[in-house]
Amino acid sequence: MRFSDVIGLENIKSELAGIADSGRIPHAMLFTEDAGSGALPLLLSFIQYISCKNRADGDSCGKCPSCSKISKMVHPDLHFVFPVSATSSGGSKQTSDNFISVWRSAILNNPYITEQQFNEACGVENKLGRISVAEASSIFKKLTMTSFEGGNKYMVIWLPERMNQETSNKLLKLLEEPPANTYLFLVSQSPERVLLTIQSRCRLLRVPPIDPSSLALYLKNSFSFNEDEALLWARISGGSLSKATSLISESLEHSKNDELAEMLINSSLSKDLSGVIRVWEEVAQFTRESQLGFCRTLLESIRRIYMISIGADDISFIPGMRREIYTQWAKKVNPTFFQRGADLVNGAMADIERNVNPKYIFADLGNRFFLTL
Ligand SMILES: [Zn+2]
Repeated sequence: MRFSDVIGLENIKSELAGIADSGRIPHAMLFTEDAGSGALPLLLSFIQYISCKNRADGDSCGKCPSCSKISKMVHPDLHFVFPVSATSSGGSKQTSDNFISVWRSAILNNPYITEQQFNEACGVENKLGRISVAEASSIFKKLTMTSFEGGNKYMVIWLPERMNQETSNKLLKLLEEPPANTYLFLVSQSPERVLLTIQSRCRLLRVPPIDPSSLALYLKNSFSFNEDEALLWARISGGSLSKATSLISESLEHSKNDELAEMLINSSLSKDLSGVIRVWEEVAQFTRESQLGFCRTLLESIRRIYMISIGADDISFIPGMRREIYTQWAKKVNPTFFQRGADLVNGAMADIERNVNPKYIFADLGNRFFLTL
Protein backbone atom coordinates (compact mmCIF):
# COMPACT_ATOMS: atom_id res chain seq x y z
CA MET A 1 0.00 0.00 0.00
CA ARG A 2 1.13 3.53 -0.69
CA PHE A 3 0.18 6.52 1.43
CA SER A 4 -1.93 7.67 -1.51
CA ASP A 5 -4.09 4.52 -1.18
CA VAL A 6 -5.07 5.53 2.35
CA ILE A 7 -8.17 7.74 2.58
CA GLY A 8 -7.50 11.24 3.99
CA LEU A 9 -5.19 11.55 7.05
CA GLU A 10 -2.87 13.85 5.12
CA ASN A 11 -1.25 15.44 8.20
CA ILE A 12 -0.40 12.17 9.80
CA LYS A 13 0.98 10.78 6.51
CA SER A 14 3.44 13.69 6.29
CA GLU A 15 4.32 13.23 9.93
CA LEU A 16 5.14 9.55 9.32
CA ALA A 17 7.07 10.27 6.12
CA GLY A 18 9.04 12.88 8.10
CA ILE A 19 9.86 10.34 10.81
CA ALA A 20 11.10 7.85 8.18
CA ASP A 21 13.08 10.51 6.30
CA SER A 22 14.80 11.60 9.51
CA GLY A 23 16.07 8.03 9.93
CA ARG A 24 14.99 8.11 13.59
CA ILE A 25 12.16 5.61 13.55
CA PRO A 26 11.08 4.52 17.04
CA HIS A 27 11.54 0.79 17.62
CA ALA A 28 8.10 0.51 19.12
CA MET A 29 5.04 2.49 18.10
CA LEU A 30 1.44 2.23 19.21
CA PHE A 31 -1.07 3.47 16.66
CA THR A 32 -4.49 4.08 18.20
CA GLU A 33 -7.77 4.71 16.42
CA ASP A 34 -11.53 4.37 16.59
CA ALA A 35 -12.32 1.41 14.30
CA GLY A 36 -12.53 2.43 10.67
CA SER A 37 -10.11 5.39 10.66
CA GLY A 38 -7.52 3.39 8.73
CA ALA A 39 -4.68 2.88 11.24
CA LEU A 40 -3.76 -0.50 9.70
CA PRO A 41 -3.55 0.66 6.05
CA LEU A 42 -1.69 3.74 7.27
CA LEU A 43 0.82 1.55 9.09
CA LEU A 44 1.25 -0.75 6.09
CA SER A 45 1.99 2.21 3.84
CA PHE A 46 4.42 3.56 6.47
CA ILE A 47 6.33 0.26 6.49
CA GLN A 48 6.35 0.20 2.70
CA TYR A 49 7.70 3.78 2.73
CA ILE A 50 10.45 2.95 5.23
CA SER A 51 11.61 0.01 3.11
CA CYS A 52 11.32 1.60 -0.32
CA LYS A 53 14.64 2.58 -1.92
CA ASN A 54 12.98 4.84 -4.50
CA ARG A 55 10.65 6.90 -2.37
CA ALA A 56 9.73 10.28 -3.77
CA ASP A 57 7.30 13.10 -2.97
CA GLY A 58 6.49 11.70 0.42
CA ASP A 59 5.38 8.29 -0.82
CA SER A 60 6.85 4.87 -1.65
CA CYS A 61 7.37 4.00 -5.32
CA GLY A 62 4.98 1.04 -5.26
CA LYS A 63 7.06 -0.80 -7.89
CA CYS A 64 10.42 -1.86 -6.42
CA PRO A 65 10.81 -5.47 -5.18
CA SER A 66 10.37 -4.36 -1.56
CA CYS A 67 7.18 -2.36 -2.29
CA SER A 68 5.80 -5.20 -4.34
CA LYS A 69 6.35 -7.77 -1.56
CA ILE A 70 5.04 -5.52 1.19
CA SER A 71 1.95 -4.56 -0.79
CA LYS A 72 1.15 -8.27 -1.28
CA MET A 73 1.96 -8.86 2.40
CA VAL A 74 4.47 -11.56 1.49
CA HIS A 75 7.71 -9.83 2.51
CA PRO A 76 9.61 -12.43 4.60
CA ASP A 77 10.67 -9.81 7.16
CA LEU A 78 7.16 -8.45 7.67
CA HIS A 79 5.36 -10.42 10.37
CA PHE A 80 1.80 -10.19 11.58
CA VAL A 81 0.12 -11.02 14.85
CA PHE A 82 -3.62 -10.69 15.37
CA PRO A 83 -6.23 -12.19 17.71
CA VAL A 84 -7.34 -15.70 16.86
CA SER A 85 -10.01 -17.80 18.49
CA ALA A 86 -9.01 -20.67 20.74
CA THR A 87 -12.21 -22.50 19.79
CA SER A 88 -11.01 -23.17 16.26
CA SER A 89 -9.29 -26.51 15.73
CA GLY A 90 -5.90 -26.34 17.42
CA GLY A 91 -7.08 -25.20 20.85
CA SER A 92 -5.11 -22.75 22.96
CA LYS A 93 -1.89 -23.38 21.00
CA GLN A 94 -3.47 -21.52 18.09
CA THR A 95 -1.34 -18.67 16.74
CA SER A 96 -1.64 -16.16 13.92
CA ASP A 97 0.49 -18.40 11.68
CA ASN A 98 -2.44 -20.84 11.52
CA PHE A 99 -4.61 -18.12 10.00
CA ILE A 100 -2.04 -16.19 7.99
CA SER A 101 -3.58 -16.94 4.59
CA VAL A 102 -7.06 -15.88 5.80
CA TRP A 103 -5.50 -12.73 7.25
CA ARG A 104 -3.61 -11.92 4.07
CA SER A 105 -6.58 -12.28 1.77
CA ALA A 106 -8.93 -10.47 4.19
CA ILE A 107 -6.61 -7.45 4.53
CA LEU A 108 -5.77 -7.33 0.83
CA ASN A 109 -9.47 -7.36 0.14
CA ASN A 110 -10.30 -4.73 2.80
CA PRO A 111 -7.51 -3.14 4.86
CA TYR A 112 -10.22 -1.30 6.85
CA ILE A 113 -11.66 -4.61 8.05
CA THR A 114 -13.29 -4.67 11.49
CA GLU A 115 -12.52 -7.26 14.13
CA GLN A 116 -16.01 -8.69 13.67
CA GLN A 117 -15.54 -9.02 9.91
CA PHE A 118 -12.17 -10.69 10.40
CA ASN A 119 -13.69 -13.16 12.87
CA GLU A 120 -16.34 -13.97 10.27
CA ALA A 121 -13.60 -14.55 7.67
CA CYS A 122 -12.00 -17.01 10.13
CA GLY A 123 -15.33 -18.77 10.57
CA VAL A 124 -15.81 -17.70 14.21
CA GLU A 125 -18.52 -15.10 14.45
CA ASN A 126 -19.43 -14.80 18.07
CA LYS A 127 -16.23 -15.53 19.88
CA LEU A 128 -13.60 -12.92 20.63
CA GLY A 129 -10.14 -13.90 19.49
CA ARG A 130 -7.08 -13.44 21.67
CA ILE A 131 -3.34 -13.23 21.38
CA SER A 132 -2.05 -16.20 23.33
CA VAL A 133 1.14 -16.88 25.27
CA ALA A 134 2.12 -19.28 22.49
CA GLU A 135 1.96 -16.29 20.19
CA ALA A 136 4.38 -14.33 22.39
CA SER A 137 6.95 -17.12 22.06
CA SER A 138 6.48 -17.12 18.31
CA ILE A 139 6.98 -13.31 18.18
CA PHE A 140 10.17 -13.70 20.18
CA LYS A 141 11.49 -16.40 17.85
CA LYS A 142 10.71 -14.44 14.68
CA LEU A 143 12.28 -11.21 15.87
CA THR A 144 15.45 -12.73 17.22
CA MET A 145 16.16 -14.50 13.90
CA THR A 146 18.39 -12.80 11.34
CA SER A 147 16.41 -10.94 8.74
CA PHE A 148 15.79 -12.86 5.50
CA GLU A 149 16.57 -9.98 3.20
CA GLY A 150 19.30 -8.34 5.26
CA GLY A 151 17.19 -5.26 6.03
CA ASN A 152 14.73 -4.30 8.74
CA LYS A 153 12.31 -6.67 10.42
CA TYR A 154 8.80 -5.52 11.15
CA MET A 155 6.24 -6.97 13.50
CA VAL A 156 2.69 -5.68 13.18
CA ILE A 157 0.50 -6.50 16.17
CA TRP A 158 -3.15 -5.82 15.39
CA LEU A 159 -5.35 -5.29 18.46
CA PRO A 160 -2.81 -5.74 21.28
CA GLU A 161 -5.77 -5.23 23.66
CA ARG A 162 -6.49 -8.93 23.06
CA MET A 163 -3.32 -10.00 24.86
CA ASN A 164 -3.57 -11.23 28.43
CA GLN A 165 -1.16 -10.23 31.18
CA GLU A 166 1.22 -13.13 30.61
CA THR A 167 1.51 -12.46 26.88
CA SER A 168 1.97 -8.75 27.53
CA ASN A 169 4.79 -9.40 30.01
CA LYS A 170 6.63 -11.57 27.53
CA LEU A 171 6.30 -8.91 24.88
CA LEU A 172 7.57 -6.29 27.31
CA LYS A 173 11.03 -7.85 27.26
CA LEU A 174 11.19 -7.35 23.49
CA LEU A 175 10.03 -3.77 23.80
CA GLU A 176 12.67 -3.03 26.41
CA GLU A 177 15.54 -4.35 24.35
CA PRO A 178 14.48 -4.71 20.75
CA PRO A 179 16.99 -6.56 18.54
CA ALA A 180 18.80 -4.37 16.00
CA ASN A 181 16.83 -3.19 12.95
CA THR A 182 13.62 -4.48 14.45
CA TYR A 183 10.41 -2.53 14.65
CA LEU A 184 7.28 -3.41 16.59
CA PHE A 185 4.16 -1.59 15.48
CA LEU A 186 0.95 -2.04 17.45
CA VAL A 187 -2.50 -1.01 16.22
CA SER A 188 -5.09 -0.64 18.96
CA GLN A 189 -8.76 0.28 18.93
CA SER A 190 -9.03 0.16 22.75
CA PRO A 191 -5.70 1.53 23.96
CA GLU A 192 -7.07 1.85 27.50
CA ARG A 193 -7.00 -1.94 27.61
CA VAL A 194 -3.34 -2.20 26.64
CA LEU A 195 -1.03 -2.66 29.63
CA LEU A 196 0.39 0.71 30.75
CA THR A 197 3.91 -0.67 30.82
CA ILE A 198 3.54 -1.55 27.13
CA GLN A 199 2.08 1.85 26.27
CA SER A 200 4.91 3.62 28.07
CA ARG A 201 7.53 1.86 25.94
CA CYS A 202 5.92 2.82 22.65
CA ARG A 203 5.79 6.10 20.78
CA LEU A 204 2.05 6.83 20.73
CA LEU A 205 0.39 7.96 17.55
CA ARG A 206 -3.30 8.85 17.59
CA VAL A 207 -4.90 8.29 14.17
CA PRO A 208 -7.83 10.71 13.92
CA PRO A 209 -11.16 9.98 12.18
CA ILE A 210 -11.09 10.50 8.41
CA ASP A 211 -11.99 14.09 7.53
CA PRO A 212 -15.52 14.34 6.05
CA SER A 213 -14.50 15.63 2.62
CA SER A 214 -11.92 12.86 1.97
CA LEU A 215 -14.32 10.18 3.17
CA ALA A 216 -17.16 11.69 1.13
CA LEU A 217 -15.03 11.64 -2.01
CA TYR A 218 -14.26 7.96 -1.47
CA LEU A 219 -17.92 7.08 -0.80
CA LYS A 220 -19.06 9.09 -3.80
CA ASN A 221 -16.83 7.03 -6.10
CA SER A 222 -17.54 3.66 -4.47
CA PHE A 223 -21.33 3.93 -4.25
CA SER A 224 -22.07 6.41 -7.07
CA PHE A 225 -23.63 8.89 -4.65
CA ASN A 226 -23.98 12.54 -5.47
CA GLU A 227 -21.84 14.96 -3.44
CA ASP A 228 -24.44 15.90 -0.84
CA GLU A 229 -25.44 12.32 -0.18
CA ALA A 230 -21.79 11.24 0.14
CA LEU A 231 -21.04 14.08 2.55
CA LEU A 232 -24.06 13.20 4.65
CA TRP A 233 -22.91 9.58 5.04
CA ALA A 234 -19.35 10.73 5.83
CA ARG A 235 -20.68 12.98 8.62
CA ILE A 236 -23.11 10.42 10.05
CA SER A 237 -20.34 7.83 10.27
CA GLY A 238 -18.08 10.15 12.26
CA GLY A 239 -15.16 9.62 9.88
CA SER A 240 -15.12 5.82 10.08
CA LEU A 241 -15.07 4.00 6.75
CA SER A 242 -16.25 0.70 8.23
CA LYS A 243 -19.15 2.42 10.00
CA ALA A 244 -20.08 4.31 6.82
CA THR A 245 -20.10 1.16 4.69
CA SER A 246 -22.14 -0.81 7.19
CA LEU A 247 -24.70 2.01 7.56
CA ILE A 248 -24.92 2.34 3.78
CA SER A 249 -25.40 -1.37 3.19
CA GLU A 250 -28.09 -1.49 5.90
CA SER A 251 -29.88 1.36 4.20
CA LEU A 252 -29.58 -0.24 0.75
CA GLU A 253 -30.89 -3.50 2.17
CA HIS A 254 -33.75 -1.59 3.73
CA SER A 255 -34.82 0.00 0.44
CA LYS A 256 -34.39 -3.36 -1.33
CA ASN A 257 -36.72 -4.93 1.25
CA ASP A 258 -39.27 -2.15 0.80
CA GLU A 259 -39.20 -2.77 -2.93
CA LEU A 260 -39.65 -6.56 -2.55
CA ALA A 261 -42.41 -6.25 0.06
CA GLU A 262 -44.30 -3.82 -2.16
CA MET A 263 -43.81 -6.08 -5.17
CA LEU A 264 -45.24 -9.05 -3.23
CA ILE A 265 -48.33 -7.06 -2.17
CA ASN A 266 -48.83 -5.50 -5.57
CA SER A 267 -48.42 -8.77 -7.49
CA SER A 268 -50.76 -10.58 -5.10
CA LEU A 269 -53.42 -7.87 -5.43
CA SER A 270 -53.16 -7.78 -9.22
CA LYS A 271 -53.07 -11.60 -9.42
CA ASP A 272 -49.68 -11.63 -11.11
CA LEU A 273 -48.32 -15.01 -9.97
CA SER A 274 -45.00 -14.62 -11.79
CA GLY A 275 -44.30 -11.42 -9.78
CA VAL A 276 -44.99 -13.29 -6.53
CA ILE A 277 -42.65 -16.10 -7.58
CA ARG A 278 -39.88 -13.63 -8.44
CA VAL A 279 -40.08 -12.20 -4.92
CA TRP A 280 -39.95 -15.49 -3.05
CA GLU A 281 -37.18 -16.87 -5.24
CA GLU A 282 -35.08 -13.81 -4.49
CA VAL A 283 -35.75 -13.68 -0.76
CA ALA A 284 -35.04 -17.42 -0.39
CA GLN A 285 -31.45 -16.67 -1.49
CA PHE A 286 -30.87 -14.11 1.30
CA THR A 287 -28.96 -14.81 4.49
CA ARG A 288 -31.13 -15.75 7.47
CA GLU A 289 -30.67 -12.30 9.02
CA SER A 290 -31.72 -10.58 5.79
CA GLN A 291 -34.74 -12.88 5.45
CA LEU A 292 -35.84 -11.79 8.92
CA GLY A 293 -35.25 -8.18 7.85
CA PHE A 294 -37.49 -8.71 4.83
CA CYS A 295 -40.23 -10.15 7.06
CA ARG A 296 -40.05 -7.13 9.38
CA THR A 297 -40.43 -4.83 6.37
CA LEU A 298 -43.40 -6.86 5.16
CA LEU A 299 -45.06 -6.53 8.58
CA GLU A 300 -44.44 -2.79 8.42
CA SER A 301 -46.08 -2.63 4.98
CA ILE A 302 -49.14 -4.45 6.29
CA ARG A 303 -49.28 -2.03 9.23
CA ARG A 304 -49.10 0.93 6.85
CA ILE A 305 -51.98 -0.30 4.71
CA TYR A 306 -54.01 -0.96 7.84
CA MET A 307 -53.39 2.53 9.26
CA ILE A 308 -54.57 4.10 6.02
CA SER A 309 -57.60 1.82 5.83
CA ILE A 310 -58.76 3.02 9.27
CA GLY A 311 -58.11 6.64 8.34
CA ALA A 312 -55.02 7.07 10.53
CA ASP A 313 -52.88 8.45 7.71
CA ASP A 314 -51.06 10.86 9.99
CA ILE A 315 -49.47 8.05 12.04
CA SER A 316 -48.89 5.68 9.14
CA PHE A 317 -45.30 6.99 8.66
CA ILE A 318 -45.42 6.44 4.92
CA PRO A 319 -42.89 8.42 2.89
CA GLY A 320 -44.74 11.06 0.85
CA MET A 321 -44.13 9.55 -2.56
CA ARG A 322 -45.38 6.09 -1.50
CA ARG A 323 -48.60 7.38 0.08
CA GLU A 324 -50.63 7.23 -3.12
CA ILE A 325 -49.90 3.56 -3.78
CA TYR A 326 -50.66 2.58 -0.16
CA THR A 327 -53.94 4.44 -0.39
CA GLN A 328 -54.83 2.46 -3.54
CA TRP A 329 -54.00 -0.82 -1.79
CA ALA A 330 -56.00 0.14 1.32
CA LYS A 331 -59.08 0.38 -0.91
CA LYS A 332 -58.55 -3.09 -2.36
CA VAL A 333 -57.49 -5.10 0.69
CA ASN A 334 -60.11 -7.14 2.52
CA PRO A 335 -60.09 -6.10 6.22
CA THR A 336 -59.75 -9.73 7.30
CA PHE A 337 -56.34 -9.81 5.64
CA PHE A 338 -54.51 -7.62 8.20
CA GLN A 339 -54.53 -10.15 11.02
CA ARG A 340 -54.17 -13.10 8.65
CA GLY A 341 -51.25 -11.48 6.80
CA ALA A 342 -49.43 -10.61 10.01
CA ASP A 343 -49.90 -14.19 11.28
CA LEU A 344 -48.46 -15.56 8.03
CA VAL A 345 -45.37 -13.35 8.27
CA ASN A 346 -44.84 -14.10 11.97
CA GLY A 347 -45.17 -17.82 11.17
CA ALA A 348 -42.53 -17.46 8.46
CA MET A 349 -40.19 -15.73 10.94
CA ALA A 350 -40.63 -18.56 13.43
CA ASP A 351 -39.85 -21.07 10.65
CA ILE A 352 -36.68 -19.16 9.75
CA GLU A 353 -35.57 -19.36 13.38
CA ARG A 354 -36.27 -23.11 13.30
CA ASN A 355 -34.10 -23.51 10.20
CA VAL A 356 -36.89 -24.68 7.93
CA ASN A 357 -35.81 -24.67 4.27
CA PRO A 358 -36.19 -21.03 3.17
CA LYS A 359 -37.40 -22.01 -0.31
CA TYR A 360 -40.32 -23.79 1.31
CA ILE A 361 -41.01 -20.93 3.76
CA PHE A 362 -41.12 -18.19 1.14
CA ALA A 363 -42.91 -20.22 -1.57
CA ASP A 364 -45.60 -20.95 1.01
CA LEU A 365 -45.77 -17.35 2.21
CA GLY A 366 -45.93 -16.05 -1.36
CA ASN A 367 -48.71 -18.44 -2.33
CA ARG A 368 -50.77 -17.60 0.76
CA PHE A 369 -50.43 -13.88 0.10
CA PHE A 370 -51.46 -14.50 -3.50
CA LEU A 371 -54.54 -16.45 -2.40
CA THR A 372 -55.63 -14.28 0.56
CA LEU A 373 -54.98 -10.78 -0.68
ZN1 LIG B 1 9.46 1.07 -3.67
